[in-house]
Amino acid sequence: MLCDQLSLELAAAADDATPLSVDASRHVGRCLRCQAELAQYRKLLRELAGLRGAQVLPAPELLDLVLDSVSPLAPVYRINRKSRRKAVIGAAAAAASVSAAGAIVLASRLGQRQSLAS
Ligand SMILES: [Zn+2]
Repeated sequence: MLCDQLSLELAAAADDATPLSVDASRHVGRCLRCQAELAQYRKLLRELAGLRGAQVLPAPELLDLVLDSVSPLAPVYRINRKSRRKAVIGAAAAAASVSAAGAIVLASRLGQRQSLAS
């Protein structure tokens, strides 16, 4: 059995929950390279387990760095009062148009029902 073929099995067995196959176990018993690799996986798992409770505080300038990196590339223009008023009037006109169209459709359907009922 080649050492490279055992790499994934060694990684899976590092937590001692997954036993090595018989062939792999025999190979590891006499191969120093695989013993060292298994020992490295176990050490890595121990170190990762030690990090579970570790808290990492962000650097004070991190927020500014993030905000600088996500700022828009295009210029941002502020809408003045006249433009805002035009936008509100346009939205109100559009809403009134949709409401009127809905009322017309509703009235026509009600008219059809009444004509069918009589
Ligand atoms: Zn080996």
